[in-house]
Amino acid sequence: MLQDKDRIFKNLYGDDSFDLASAIRRGDWDGTKTIISKGKDWIINEIKKSELRGRGGAGFPTGVKWSFAPKEPKEGRPHYLIINADESEPGTCKDRDIIRYEPQKLIEGSLIASYAVSAHVCYIYIRGEYVNEGKVLQQAINQAYENGYLGKNAAGSGWDLDMYIHFGAGAYICGEETALLESLEGNKGQPRLKPPFPALIGLYGCPTIVNNVETIAVVPTILRKGSEWFASFGKPKNRGTKIFCISGNVNNPCNVEEEMSVPLKYLIEKHAGGVVGGWENLQAVIPGGSSMPLLPKSTCETILMDFDSLIEAKSGLGTAGIVVIDKSQDIVKCIARIARFYKHESCGQCTPCREGSGWMWRMLERIGRGEADIAEIDMLMDVTKQIEGHTICAFGEGSSWPVQGLLRHFRKEMEDKCDPDKYYQRENVI
Ligand code: SF4
Repeated sequence: MLQDKDRIFKNLYGDDSFDLASAIRRGDWDGTKTIISKGKDWIINEIKKSELRGRGGAGFPTGVKWSFAPKEPKEGRPHYLIINADESEPGTCKDRDIIRYEPQKLIEGSLIASYAVSAHVCYIYIRGEYVNEGKVLQQAINQAYENGYLGKNAAGSGWDLDMYIHFGAGAYICGEETALLESLEGNKGQPRLKPPFPALIGLYGCPTIVNNVETIAVVPTILRKGSEWFASFGKPKNRGTKIFCISGNVNNPCNVEEEMSVPLKYLIEKHAGGVVGGWENLQAVIPGGSSMPLLPKSTCETILMDFDSLIEAKSGLGTAGIVVIDKSQDIVKCIARIARFYKHESCGQCTPCREGSGWMWRMLERIGRGEADIAEIDMLMDVTKQIEGHTICAFGEGSSWPVQGLLRHFRKEMEDKCDPDKYYQRENVI
């Protein structure tokens, strides 16, 4: 398990100040100029060798994404780096702590990444509810400007970089990278059809790389300590360290940086103080934010927390927002609550998503209240299948996968609720 000396985020709990002097004392901005002097190709290759995958949910290899940007900007088509800080996935709060306690890591990583993709402008799109975090970030950016780490010849690297914060207005879908770009341009936050991908046609039609906060914040440490060091953690193709957010029915909800492929049970027992009422009281775990299918207790005994292990278990690492659900919870009502969230947040462009998310929510509510016919369970699965794969963006999957997870692992509980005798017995109605 990860030792303190290998933790990238030394101030994840805010024990020390976020200010520039404290960040430098903790090791930020150490040799940034030397790193940049090694050139774009070296930086991109090191990030590829480190096997860093995006920490925002999709898990796309970061170095590969950077290499999609054209080598040099063409006349009148500047490149942009966008930091996606629209952290809105229920169960996820890791970027928030990076922004408020370790903002210089994000700013330093943004400078290096901007240089690697030939961007002189970086926008940080932060969710509107993160008002206080945005204020801290603006202070950190101001300090970086005042001390020569941003602006002309940033950090003495010879590269010019300007950085701006843009606050979102509370729409979950703006965390989808093309909806984010639309929103940043001043339009309604609705995802674009892909291709073309933002690396070629992004913000204002120019080449744009969009990366999550955590992805960029770990870049300076990887380049300082070496790609081999980062790649020494986790399983092949699932390398490095990762911040896990553990919440729900645990004794000590927390964010913790651990190595990839750490056992889920270890995370819950060691870092989150265990399940309320003990491990035997565990019912299910959502392993990667609300859009990932839940895992039953039997899978939680042995599952490793990385992209590929969770895909094998028909779920996903997503944002690594772990939500623990104990046996006191009505699992159908839990997923109905999530379905309501997705119904509310659908941008409405695609009929299957716009209409289907509402259908799923209403059917789950009916099942939860014991008012549904047993045939509606198969009908519900049919609705999820008609959404999945038939929409413009991955929100369609994000809304239907939690319901599919429920149907896969808790069908019996759903059937019991559709059986009037069993329902009334359990609810003590008669
Ligand atoms: Fe909008 Fe849903 Fe279609 Fe995504 S899948 S574009 S959120 S309607």
